[in-house]
Amino acid sequence: MAASGVISPAGLARIPLDHLLPRTPVEDDVAVGAYVEARLGREVVDRLVEPLLGGVYAGNAHEISMRAAVPKLFEIARSPHRSLIAGVREELHRAAARTQDAGPVFLGVEGGVGRLPQAVAEACRAAGAQVRTGTEARALRRTASGWQVETSAPHGTEVLDADAVVLSVPAAAASRLLSSEAPGAAAELAPVEYASMALVTMAFRRRDLAVQPRGSGFLVPPVDGRTIKASTFSSVKWGWVGDADPDVLVLRTSVGRHGEEADLLRDDTDLVRLSRHDLGEAIGLTAAPVAARVTRWDRGLPQYPVGHLDRVARIRAHVAGLPGLQVCGALYDGVGIPACIGSARRAADALLEGTPGTGACGGAGQ
Ligand SMILES: Cc1cc2nc3c(=O)[nH]c(=O)nc-3n(C[C@H](O)[C@H](O)[C@H](O)COP(=O)(O)OP(=O)(O)OC[C@H]3O[C@@H](n4cnc5c(N)ncnc54)[C@H](O)[C@@H]3O)c2cc1C
Repeated sequence: MAASGVISPAGLARIPLDHLLPRTPVEDDVAVGAYVEARLGREVVDRLVEPLLGGVYAGNAHEISMRAAVPKLFEIARSPHRSLIAGVREELHRAAARTQDAGPVFLGVEGGVGRLPQAVAEACRAAGAQVRTGTEARALRRTASGWQVETSAPHGTEVLDADAVVLSVPAAAASRLLSSEAPGAAAELAPVEYASMALVTMAFRRRDLAVQPRGSGFLVPPVDGRTIKASTFSSVKWGWVGDADPDVLVLRTSVGRHGEEADLLRDDTDLVRLSRHDLGEAIGLTAAPVAARVTRWDRGLPQYPVGHLDRVARIRAHVAGLPGLQVCGALYDGVGIPACIGSARRAADALLEGTPGTGACGGAGQ
């Protein structure tokens, strides 16, 4: 940490106090920021934890649940170790003994992650499913034999009969759909908050750059007061982007996080201008992009505040009372795509176990 220069000498001096301080009591849950600050000091939270969690949740370390977002750390915090550093060291040794090769740090989809939903839809069609896009599930009703989903699409309203339903929609939509059949679940879903963000993707001619960026990108601590929260050097991080045109550097910045969404009211030109300003200050990039695109993710990331897992357990308990109904998606078992896939498998397995003789289910959502 000292070599990185990220933490000031005063911040570095605070870290070893972790070995001397009494154990920090952790009950059912705690905010990641509160616990790490108690052990290692505020600067570690502001300059390391906050930007890392911001990168994943676009949230605030002093609100995000340690139990939900970093369960390993939660386990360590509740272990007999007094020191967080000692607990983490022991866990790292155990992990190293379990596996020699941890695999690549980053894993992506060649051609872009946008190929994933298309591939899922194609696989479903190949298995005989009908996939309806641009179709909103508006109401959900129980029937004597299963479920009815009322949908609205450009060509009109339709009522679909289904043996079973998986709701893979964000909290507000799930809450509306469950309001009559599972009002308890609907009430739990309604208050779940989401963060909005925008990605600014820019392409530069390499010959216009005074300095070629190294590494895969950087995170920006919110305490630095910049507009951008992170930048990914896509051409460096992802081989397929770099190979597409070696004379072009593609990079992106992200703007906005939970509770800090004012910048998202700016128009696209402004977001590109502010991103270029911050990139100039951070890595000396002053060239003009040859192309730029702003992609907005309105309420794209559910927030996991302290107590989130208890809320999820209550939602699932309400839904469990309704045969042939399951929920899945980013608000339940983790926001990352692997966690979303895991929650989808869990929902499908539960349906197939609970629906004798059924090998298929209707669906609302994606
Ligand atoms: C900018 C950004 C970058 C990310 N980067 C990464 C990353 O690098 N790695 C990673 O693992 N994860 C990443 N994530 C997180 C991950 O992409 C998401 O958490 C995940 O895709 C969520 O999947 P989901 O199916 O739960 O929800 P969503 O993808 O939000 O899907 C919900 C769907 O439901 C539809 N819907 C809503 N209401 C209705 C209705 N009434 N009827 C029918 N359909 C409806 C919506 O149109 C939407 O298509 C990122 C997220 C964002 C926003």
